[in-house]
Amino acid sequence: MCSEASFINSGFGKYAKQILSRWHKTNKYIVAEFASYGMVNDPRDKNIDWIYYANAVRDNDPRYKEYMSRTDNQFGKWRFEKVLLDFKPDIVVDVRDFWMSGYQTLSPLRSYFHHILMPTVDSAPQQEEWVDVFLSTDAIFTYSDWGAQILKQQTNDKIKYIATASPGVDLDIFNIKDKNSCRQILGIDNDVFIVGSVMRNQKRKLIPELLVSFKKILSIFEKEKRSDKIFLYLHTTYPDMGWDIPELLNDHQISNNVLFTYLCKNCSNIESCVYCGPQKVCSKCFNKSSQFPSVSQGVTDEQLSIIYNTFDLYVQYAICEGFGMPQVEAAACGVPIATVEYSAMIDIISKLEAYPIKIKTYFKELETKAIRVYPDNDCLIDIILKELDKPISIRNNNRVRIRNLTEKYYNWDNIAKIWENYFDNLDFRADWSKPLPILRKASISNKDSNFSQFINLCNNTMKNSELLSSFKFLNMLQNADYGFHYVSPTQISGYGINNLCDHINTMIDNNNRSEEVRQKNIKFEEDFIQYAHLKNDI
Ligand SMILES: [Zn+2]
Repeated sequence: MCSEASFINSGFGKYAKQILSRWHKTNKYIVAEFASYGMVNDPRDKNIDWIYYANAVRDNDPRYKEYMSRTDNQFGKWRFEKVLLDFKPDIVVDVRDFWMSGYQTLSPLRSYFHHILMPTVDSAPQQEEWVDVFLSTDAIFTYSDWGAQILKQQTNDKIKYIATASPGVDLDIFNIKDKNSCRQILGIDNDVFIVGSVMRNQKRKLIPELLVSFKKILSIFEKEKRSDKIFLYLHTTYPDMGWDIPELLNDHQISNNVLFTYLCKNCSNIESCVYCGPQKVCSKCFNKSSQFPSVSQGVTDEQLSIIYNTFDLYVQYAICEGFGMPQVEAAACGVPIATVEYSAMIDIISKLEAYPIKIKTYFKELETKAIRVYPDNDCLIDIILKELDKPISIRNNNRVRIRNLTEKYYNWDNIAKIWENYFDNLDFRADWSKPLPILRKASISNKDSNFSQFINLCNNTMKNSELLSSFKFLNMLQNADYGFHYVSPTQISGYGINNLCDHINTMIDNNNRSEEVRQKNIKFEEDFIQYAHLKNDI
């Protein structure tokens, strides 16, 4: 499995850890992890008892410059062939975003292994290049049923979709606790209604729209002179590469009714309170060391479970989601969910009986070329008011029902089984003894070539018609014809046949080197290979 290292506290890291440990435990497979952001001699790797190939190097390493020279190296591009030739897998699995796994399809060793991708489909349509790659993949798993449906539609059902294997949730840590005691820990009154959300502070998350909606509800409460009975709880980060939280609070004049989590750097105490600046005095150790939790310094899952348990309603408010893990964590704590009727959030509506928040507007986003949405704030307001009106006894029954649904759909053991079923019924076995053709480099210069000559030449040198008719290659040809390409949506750079030629020659070099290593069974002396062997022997 190529992923973020299984000890990293990210969505991909967690998925790798939960799945790899279960596959490994079956004793049916030899499991290896190719770990982005994992290093050799990484103290965090001590609990990995399957094979571990580190992909990253430290910034004082002589190879650091090469590592940083292209963005996909951090996702494994620079070491992929070496790991393949050392491990010789039957199956390669990647559950990350397209731009993190795309290089695997172009590997000269692609024909050896059974390739399974589980892309994070977060909106429709998916880019043509991605769909082209997904079509060439041996099997596709998805994060959501919605994602599967989009891929099927876009490929006229040609995609080799196997199953939805959404991430699960730690059902022991995230569970229903006594709400009043959780509120006591965080300093929240028992008789208030809490609308909560847990999210990164980033553009995709609709924090401003959520505040606008909440402001409207608050004005109803103000008229009834009970504005101290409802709070919005935002578990997020500030400062971050996202919204200016104090500015938003000020815009809407709702500071008194919006709670945030503060985490003490010194004693790890968590408390919830209205905005008190980016740093405040910790109410436990009295140091000025309480801050918003962040990715690098976050609350523990146990603390997060306490936070969810204070919520009366959980709201997911975003323009799209690849999955939206906090919704499932909240549901495991029995919190009813309101979520936007778009992308993977639709799965939460159908599986966890969440309130659907209707869509107000669909729009196309520049950076991603994808369709995104703005939800209908009025619909969210209706949902909050509806939940508020429910008697406590009904709300309590619902908590149990939501918890049961979460156990049914988001249980890691079941999710690992979905993969196992597929592996166990797969007849394919890799044949690493089969030779690769040795290719001759293309020699062509910018001046003396025309496109049809060039394509013929590629065909003769590459001997790979599938690659030549791939969207990626056709796109490069078009770029060469146009004389430019988009490096990113906001950066254009020149491009010519010579660039394309360089690209092809690099692929040919890579092919020939791979074949030499494979054929002569050359052992790599590089530290990450040695370390993988050493760790495995121990
Ligand atoms: Zn403290």
